[in-house]
Amino acid sequence: MTGKDLHDIPPNHPRYESLKLRAKIVDAYKTGVLADSGLIAHGRGEAFDYLIGEKTTAGAKRAIETAAAYLLLADYPVISVNGNTAALVPREIVALAGKLNARIEINLFYRTSKRLKAIEKVLKDAGAVDVLGDEDNPLNISGLESPRSRVSRDGVYKADVVLVPLEDGDRAEALVSNGKKVLTVDLNPLSRTAKTSTVTIVDNLVRAVTHLISSVDRLKEMENSQLHNIVNGFDNKKNLDEALRYMKGNLP
Ligand code: ATP
Ligand code: MG
Repeated sequence: MTGKDLHDIPPNHPRYESLKLRAKIVDAYKTGVLADSGLIAHGRGEAFDYLIGEKTTAGAKRAIETAAAYLLLADYPVISVNGNTAALVPREIVALAGKLNARIEINLFYRTSKRLKAIEKVLKDAGAVDVLGDEDNPLNISGLESPRSRVSRDGVYKADVVLVPLEDGDRAEALVSNGKKVLTVDLNPLSRTAKTSTVTIVDNLVRAVTHLISSVDRLKEMENSQLHNIVNGFDNKKNLDEALRYMKGNLP
């Protein structure tokens, strides 16, 4: 389905929101922003979204608030973007980076120069001025085979806090063992990324990022001591267990 076909779906269709996202994902595949595996990743996400009733749960809100606190306390926050993120929420990512004074870096699992350029264009069209990820002198983080270890010198390499939606498990692990605080958005509470990250937001990226922007606006007014209290009061494993219980509770 393409964006054009979407006009044929009435907005009161019960699957309208979900179909709208599918259309964006398919378009992104066609324009080279998304790898074929990105289509599959989206489908896996849809299945888990069903299980949480396609809405942001109280547990996800807690994780979002904690992620906002980490981002506001960070010395050098970086937002890492892949094809799915660029396809679904480019404007929101640029807005969030602006509020946090965070760098944006493109990091791809299936890296090609063509896809990198396509994503960079999407982000620039969405208002980004400066996008990292395509430098001639990248660095490598330890614990990964190249080219998956590739990071930007002024981006993830330097970051103390990385927001990295839909990351791969190996790379999330490597970021954590390189001393980064890793904030992820992943609808699957059982993935290695979900289990390894510092904060896992079990929610659809399209809802999570919008909530994250509002949380940053709200928490910006707080003292650092209050932000530290939020961070210290959060237990990722407990939150993931709660997400799983929530999903089980929705089963017949
Ligand atoms: P891991 O490598 O962490 O063990 P995986 O290999 O099972 O995970 P991947 O294909 O690497 O999964 O990553 C895709 C992940 O992104 C899936 O867990 C999927 O649920 C999640 N996902 C897909 N689309 C969205 C979305 N729109 N919002 C949030 N999460 C999503
Ligand atoms: Mg994986």
